[in-house]
Amino acid sequence: MIAVEGVIKRFGAHTVLDGVSLTVALGEVVTILGSSGSGKSTLIRCVNGLETLDGGRITVDGLDVSDPRQLAQARRLSATVFQLFNLYPHMTVLRNITLAPELVLRRPRDEVEAQARALLASVGLVGKADSYPGQLSGGQRQRVGICRALAMNPRYLLLDEVTSALDPEMTAEVLAILGKLAARQSDGAGTTMLFVTHEVEFARRISTRIVFLDQGRLIIDLPTDQFFAADGGLAHPRIRQFLSKMA
Ligand code: ADP
Ligand code: MG
Repeated sequence: MIAVEGVIKRFGAHTVLDGVSLTVALGEVVTILGSSGSGKSTLIRCVNGLETLDGGRITVDGLDVSDPRQLAQARRLSATVFQLFNLYPHMTVLRNITLAPELVLRRPRDEVEAQARALLASVGLVGKADSYPGQLSGGQRQRVGICRALAMNPRYLLLDEVTSALDPEMTAEVLAILGKLAARQSDGAGTTMLFVTHEVEFARRISTRIVFLDQGRLIIDLPTDQFFAADGGLAHPRIRQFLSKMA
């Protein structure tokens, strides 16, 4: 599991994460909601060791991400998809997907390529293996980004607003893929997900739990049905205000 314990993160005088605790157990799909600037991306970046902590502790399957050696091991367990499709523009779609499994995991090229082609087929991009990112739409690029993350066979998939740079049609394409991934959880075959999104209705459908970040504090952590219950999350004025702005 991913365990975030009392994490504090400051940028200068600004405390961006103020004692955040959160666990994501195997098989869960946990969505982080919160207004822009509440610290969601910073939290994801802390989990994959891209930020140093000013307090608290984060472990991934017991590996402390603040320790460089343990971080290197932890990074093999999780993969992240970001808002902006950071594909390598000078490499084909196929190479973008196979690069890290080959170089980091040292898996044989033919095996990795076969997996990459199967992943591309599963997201409806079977004919795009030899294209370059610049030849794809935003939605297609983001689907490649998801394939690239999945090619690492991650135990944990971290997704930070992967649709917020996309138009509604492309957003729907990408959410459909993520919905399928999340649904596989119920057979125990899927990837555990920690998901930052503004797509509240989608989060409601696919999440096992929803947490709410407000100015760096995690003020709600509830099973999805309780988050949306009148006597649960909706009893909090801050949550009602957030959801009414989203609607
Ligand atoms: P969210 O993803 O919820 O919109 P972020 O985690 O991106 O929020 O940002 C939380 C706060 O931290 C914001 O006020 C943002 O300006 C600030 N912040 C994020 N990254 C940095 C940074 N590298 N340096 C200074 N401030 C930062
Ligand atoms: Mg963000």
